[in-house]
Amino acid sequence: MVVVGAGLSGLAAAWELSGGAPGDPDAPRIEVLEAAPRVGGPLVLGDLDGQAVDLGPDGFLARRPEARTLIEELGLGDDLIDIGASGASLWLRGELRAIPRSLALGVPASRAALRELGGLSWHARVAAWRDWLAPRALHVGEDASIGQIVRTKLGDEIARSVVEPLVGGIQAGRIDDLSAAALLPGLLAAAQRGGSLMRALAAAAPPPAPAGASGPAFHSLRGGLGALPQTLADRLVARGVVVRTATPVQALRRVTGEHPLVVETATTATPADAVVVATPAAVTAALLGSWDPDLAALGSIRYAAAAMVSASYPEATAPLPAGTGVLVPLGTPWAGGGTLIVTALTFLDRKWEPLRQPGRVLVRAHVGRSDDQRYAAFDDEHLGARVADEIALVLGWSSRPTASRVQRFLPGLPQYTVGYADLVARARDAAARGGVDLAGSTYDGVGIPASIGSGRRAARAALMRLAARP
Ligand SMILES: Cc1cc2nc3c(=O)[nH]c(=O)nc-3n(C[C@H](O)[C@H](O)[C@H](O)COP(=O)(O)OP(=O)(O)OC[C@H]3O[C@@H](n4cnc5c(N)ncnc54)[C@H](O)[C@@H]3O)c2cc1C
Repeated sequence: MVVVGAGLSGLAAAWELSGGAPGDPDAPRIEVLEAAPRVGGPLVLGDLDGQAVDLGPDGFLARRPEARTLIEELGLGDDLIDIGASGASLWLRGELRAIPRSLALGVPASRAALRELGGLSWHARVAAWRDWLAPRALHVGEDASIGQIVRTKLGDEIARSVVEPLVGGIQAGRIDDLSAAALLPGLLAAAQRGGSLMRALAAAAPPPAPAGASGPAFHSLRGGLGALPQTLADRLVARGVVVRTATPVQALRRVTGEHPLVVETATTATPADAVVVATPAAVTAALLGSWDPDLAALGSIRYAAAAMVSASYPEATAPLPAGTGVLVPLGTPWAGGGTLIVTALTFLDRKWEPLRQPGRVLVRAHVGRSDDQRYAAFDDEHLGARVADEIALVLGWSSRPTASRVQRFLPGLPQYTVGYADLVARARDAAARGGVDLAGSTYDGVGIPASIGSGRRAARAALMRLAARP
């Protein structure tokens, strides 16, 4: 069996495939082939100010079980840590405003939530109140963009100033492109009910948990999440799995004979009974597109490249706002001309207790969106300097970082645009007809738990197909 791609989804697929009885002489030979010199895709640890810090993803959703389960299976359960803060702010009209906790799916769902949202114009409030009292009609079918729903129902300003940074920001995309069916099915269902969007969202919102009853929203690992992929790869090797880095797969062919598939690299041709392909969509389309137009269609999926600048500051020179960070709406004017390139700030050592040290603050800035790649024109030094200027503006600081690290992410985040679910379902069916299973953040949602779950499900599907073979 071969797994193509050693991001978390590919590694999790190999973990599932290799999970039979230890020492079983009939256990299949499993090979993981990875193009990059290291495993893990965007997960990466780096030194910042003398400490190992996640320069990529630094936490994962606690309410989904997949990541925690895998971490416990690896025996790392004692290293799980809880996020140390909650809530965030929005930089709106030149001020930091606390984001009300009462938002539903990033959208104000009550008049109280609207009142709590600072920095909105009178016009924006009237547009939203109108939804409560005399809602605009909107026909949504099986899918619509998040932007279309929010703009029509609550007006442009709430869409641009609140929902775009909260929802679009996480995806590094634009809400006018992003699919409500794929990303916010609750929003689509509320829109499909017709009438007031706010009332429908309020009716569907779960009752608030009693104080202290809800656990942490995010977990990470002591020592950094970026260590997880290599730990997993090491455990796979201990199970007898072959993990080869710096080995891009160049072709995947269907053949007749004992083994129906052959996986080719520059120097090898490995026969396989089953293959899990866990690569970004463009690579998967290049490898499998000639098999079926539905697989070639994966090549149309757009990605948003992004970068993160992690910086160490001496003590904050102005008080940090409460919570885990700050979101910056698109189009926020920049004194140097144009608009800010930073889309969000994260207070790394406020989130993760092991990073805390007296006399220092760790701040991370996020740059890059599906339609804003201005950051790519800067080299690391200039990007760090520009981001430091923007941090100084948003946080009202006069200090400069004592150390900073730039990490760039290619291809970045897949954009789940309108009609996405259908496109990937058809591709998956076409691949399965050829004996291949697809896994990764292209298919089952972006995020560490989603990617791990996607890999394990693909592996189980491959094992079931093999078991059913005559
Ligand atoms: C900037 C950024 C920040 C994020 N932050 C968070 C976060 O804080 N929390 C969270 O839960 N999620 C976060 N995510 C999402 C999460 O990181 C992803 O969902 C997850 O890592 C994707 O794993 P994957 O295996 O699907 O893809 P990838 O990790 O991209 O793996 C695909 C692999 O395929 C390899 N490959 C490509 N071509 C070939 C080839 N020809 N042959 C062999 N191998 C090939 C690639 O090198 C790569 O290693 C973030 C993502 C990004 C980009």
